[in-house]
Amino acid sequence: MTRKPRDAAESLAAAAAAPRRLLLLDFDGTLCPLRRRPELAHLTAAQRALLRALNQGRGRVAVVSGRSVEDLHKRVATRGLVYVGSFGLQSSGPDWRWAHPRAHAARPALRAFAGRLRLMFSDVPGALIEFKGSGICVHRRGVPPAHDARFERRLRRARAVAPAGLRWRRGPLSWEVAPDVAWDKGRAALALWRRFDRPFLLAIGDDRPDEPMLRAARARGAALRVGAGRSAARVRLKNPAAVWRFLRTLAERGRDELNDQTLRAQKSGL
Ligand SMILES: [Mg+2]
Repeated sequence: MTRKPRDAAESLAAAAAAPRRLLLLDFDGTLCPLRRRPELAHLTAAQRALLRALNQGRGRVAVVSGRSVEDLHKRVATRGLVYVGSFGLQSSGPDWRWAHPRAHAARPALRAFAGRLRLMFSDVPGALIEFKGSGICVHRRGVPPAHDARFERRLRRARAVAPAGLRWRRGPLSWEVAPDVAWDKGRAALALWRRFDRPFLLAIGDDRPDEPMLRAARARGAALRVGAGRSAARVRLKNPAAVWRFLRTLAERGRDELNDQTLRAQKSGL
C-alpha cells in the first residue's frame, strides 16, 4: 500500500482489500464501554459471532488487553482468536501459548507480593488486589472518596516495600504492577505480525498503553483511536458502538469480496 488511510472509510477499504489481515483490538473502552465494575464487561452473542466471522478466511483477530489472558478467555469467550494479555506479556492462540521469559520468571515473586498487598490494603474498603499471572492490578474503583487518602497512604507504603524490578503504571481507576521489561502492546503486535507472516495490520485502541500498538499498525496498515486524547492514530472512532459498526461493515465487505471471488472462479470455470 502506498498511501496511508486518512479516515475510517479509507481504513475500511484498505483492510477489506488486503490479501491477509490481522485485527488488533483492545478490550475495555474499545470493544466494551468502560465500566465502573470491570468484572461486568462482556460481549454479546452477536458480537462474538462477528469476531468469529472476522477471524475466518483471510482475517485473524487478536484481542490485546491489560487484563490477563485467562480473564480475556472468559470475557470474550470466542474460540479461535488470539488473546494477548497483561499489556503484551502473555499471549495464546488456538494451539500455542507464550509468556515473556522475564515475566514468567517473576511470577512466584509477584504472587507473593500480591499476597502482601492484600494484607496491606485489607483496611481500605473497596480496594481489590488482582493477581494476573504476569502482573498485579490494584483496583481503586470500589474505594469510596472518603477513603482515598488511606488508599494513597497504603499505596506509598506498598511502593516503598515492593520487590525491585517492578514498574507501576497508573490507570484510570487502578494501578498496574508488572515486571519492568522493555515490552508493550506494540512489541506484542510486531511479534504477532511476524508470526502471521506480515499481514495488513489494523489496530483499534482507546488508551495510552494502546499507543505503541497503534504506531506499529499505522506503519503496516491502519490505526484507529477511540475517543479523545493525543494519539499516533490519524483516524478516530467515537466510542465502542462506532467500533462495532466499523467491524460489522468490514465483515460485510469481506463476505462480498469472498462471494465475488467465488463468482469469478465459477465464471472462469474453475
Ligand atoms: Mg482500553
